Order: sequence, then structure tokens, then C-alpha cells
Amino acid sequence: MKLNDRGLLIVISGPSGVGKGTVRSALFQMEGHDLVYSVSMTTRKPRANEVDGREYYFVTREEFESYINEGKMLEFAEFVNNYYGTPLDQVTEMLEAGKEVVLEIEVQGATQVREKMKDAVLIFIAPPSMEDLYRRLSSRGTEPPEIIQARIDKAKREIDLAYMYDYIVVNDTVENAADRIMAIIRAEHAKVERTIHKYKELLEVNNESK
Ligand code: 5GP
Repeated sequence: MKLNDRGLLIVISGPSGVGKGTVRSALFQMEGHDLVYSVSMTTRKPRANEVDGREYYFVTREEFESYINEGKMLEFAEFVNNYYGTPLDQVTEMLEAGKEVVLEIEVQGATQVREKMKDAVLIFIAPPSMEDLYRRLSSRGTEPPEIIQARIDKAKREIDLAYMYDYIVVNDTVENAADRIMAIIRAEHAKVERTIHKYKELLEVNNESK
């Protein structure tokens, strides 16, 4: 029996504009990992090149709301007039199969995971500085200043929630951020509270066979 046979739930989250999607892609491109991505459900329309079941499960508002009402979402949030959420069943199945399940979600969703899954590992992706975040948020398109200001205000409120996470990873470069996350995952595996019960079982089996 492996020392560690229930998987880890790893939540990558952070303010909008911080680049968490890019960091998540870089993490999955690294070699020698056993991570699986939990595909979210959303009501937003697919973008060009997005495939149903790969980037997201694309559903209607009615379908999403029936998932919520039936208690089938681990977490969900409304973001720019669309629902986004994590179906509970797929996460539970993957964890029970001993997989390392990664969620990449915004901060409201992460708060819900904190409440429901006490042993989840919550990683907050932070910008190297507020100036850097301003630059990213304002260089996204040709939006009017009040929209940019609204995004910045939202990002500030989101950064304020970092205290409830387990780790803060600065996204100075995407590669550095992905490396740090991998180091966190490895360290989490070695934590005594995750392994001690299995270790005790192994000792008992050994003693019995003597
Ligand atoms: P986008 O529309 O750009 O793909 O995603 C918009 C935002 O929704 C991103 O910040 C992304 O991290 C977040 N998001 C994606 N999936 C989920 C989810 O399942 N739950 C929550 N709470 N946020 C999500």
C-alpha cells in the first residue's frame, strides 16, 4: 500500500489579471508530475479553439442552476455575468482514485473550497507589485477608464482575501511561479498529518508478520 493513497486537492487562485491560467498551463507542461485538471462548468460561450469538455463544460444557465439546486457543485461564482463552477462528483472521484486534482478558480470559489474541504491546499497567485497588476489590467483592451478602475478595485478586494490561503506565490515569471507551486505540492505530500496514519498501518502490518 502506498503511504499516501488519497489524492491532494490543489486550488490555484488569485485576483483577476494576475495570470493564474498561464501559470496553471506552465505547471501542467512540467515533467514528472501526476496532476489532473478539474474541468469547470460555465455558462459563458466557448471562445474560438475551446472544446466542450476540455477547457470547460459549456452549459446553459438553466442547466447550471439545476446543478446548484441539487447540491452538485463543490463551489461556484458569478463572474462578469456568467456562472463558473466545479462539479463535485468529478473531484471526489479523482481524489478517491489518488489523483492530484488542480482547480484554477477565482477567489470567491476558493473561499467556498476552504470551508468545504479542510485539507485542500490553497495557493494564492500574487502580482509582483500593484503597478504590475495595474499594467496588466489596463493593457487588456481598449476599455474606458471607469471599467479599468472597477477591475482594479475588484483586484484590491481580492488581494485582501489572501490571508485565508495556505501559500502565496508571486508571479514574477511564469516559470518561477510554476516551479514554486511544484515545490509546494511536493512538500505537502511529505506532511506528517497526511502520511502518519498510513505509516502507522505499515508498522502494524510489519509487527504482525514478525
Ligand atoms: P475565463 O472566462 O477567462 O475562462 O475565466 C474567468 C475567470 O473564471 C478566471 O478567473 C477563472 O480562474 C475563473 N474560473 C474558471 N473556472 C472556475 C470555476 O470552476 N469556479 C470559479 N469560482 N472560478 C472559475
